[in-house]
Amino acid sequence: MSARIIDGKAIAEALRANVAAEVQRLSQTHGLVPGLAVVLAGSNPASETYVGSKARATAAAGMRSFDHRLPESVSQAELLALVGRLNADPAVHGILVQLPLPKQIDSQRVIAALDPAKDVDGFHPVNAGALATGLPGLVPCTPLGCIRLAKAVHPSLAGLEAVVVGRSNIVGKPLAQLLLAEDATVTLAHSKTRDLPSVCRRADLLFAAVGRAEMVKADWIKPGATVIDVGINRAAGEGGRTRLLGDVDFSAVKDVAGAITPVPGGVGPMTIACLLLNTLKAACRIGGLPPPQI
Ligand code: NAP
Repeated sequence: MSARIIDGKAIAEALRANVAAEVQRLSQTHGLVPGLAVVLAGSNPASETYVGSKARATAAAGMRSFDHRLPESVSQAELLALVGRLNADPAVHGILVQLPLPKQIDSQRVIAALDPAKDVDGFHPVNAGALATGLPGLVPCTPLGCIRLAKAVHPSLAGLEAVVVGRSNIVGKPLAQLLLAEDATVTLAHSKTRDLPSVCRRADLLFAAVGRAEMVKADWIKPGATVIDVGINRAAGEGGRTRLLGDVDFSAVKDVAGAITPVPGGVGPMTIACLLLNTLKAACRIGGLPPPQI
């Protein structure tokens, strides 16, 4: 039997509509318009595409969008000075510095310079620590989106065996923390994990965040499991076009899994929707208002 396809695009559209409605309510009742500043240094084509979609989505949600483009040759001091100005700007509630940064820039120093209250990517050590200790803070957007997709299938994740493949600071680790907070039993696998296929076969919920096209095969999947594919891998398609592949061998895995996200149209749209949600949350917190219940 073929798995249910989890429609990340539709779930993300619904979330964006809820965020837009809340933004309208905030601006009418409190005169507060959330603002998101996006900083792009250099001209990485994938980053330019992401930044363009983020700016369009921000405006469509009724928020202010501030676009800062810097040359590839920007210095660490110039970038830190811009972050300082955005930290101090009351119209800016969220700051996103698009990664990767040019090689002369120390990304960790830039992230550490962000005001944690405006760190809508959730990468600042203060926010990472808040997540690990169960304190309120801003949580990275991709893992937030993954949890929402898993909950579209399982309203409660309590007691489920969750396996996350990949332990990056931006996806795997925060995702594992969120799953723990949802009372799942969590295994965090990585490149040194022994017998990865059998570790994956334990999973009721399997998350692949590796960056290796179609690595997760059908015989790694427990029948009926929910599979969330975070991977975005570019491969040559027909007519010289690029096509996107996930970390999961979708066409074979869909015949074993109970539910699965496609690539594209799964986790990707949720990441942007969760960025808008984080910007709204940051604006409420900075404005002394209760967090949105979305
Ligand atoms: P990353 O920083 O490169 O981390 C990759 C992780 O995968 C590492 O923990 C690595 O293990 C592990 N890994 C590599 N090869 C492995 C193998 N053969 N077996 C088991 N584990 C292996 O990548 P990332 O930034 O987390 O991104 C992962 C993927 O998600 C990429 O395709 C990226 O494009 C995609 N992504 C998508 C979104 C979205 O919005 N959809 C957002 C972010 C990222 P070690 O730690 O041992 O090296």
